Amino acid sequence: MPIYEYKCDSCGEDFEKLVFGSQEVICPKCSSQKVKKKFSVFCSTGTEKPLAGTSGCTSCSKTTCSTCK
Ligand SMILES: [Zn+2]
Repeated sequence: MPIYEYKCDSCGEDFEKLVFGSQEVICPKCSSQKVKKKFSVFCSTGTEKPLAGTSGCTSCSKTTCSTCK
């Protein structure tokens, strides 16, 4: 099932959501529809803080992408 990462354009909230078809996605925090979709299979490079040497993710060097959890 496709889980996508989104970032709200209005309040900056990062969230993940399961999306079926062309379902509309709104921000869970401010209910804005101005959200940007990011594919969760890729590690986001925008907002995470770097933690050197402590990555639990096998596909990237970051620790805060969705596949790290
Ligand atoms: Zn928002």
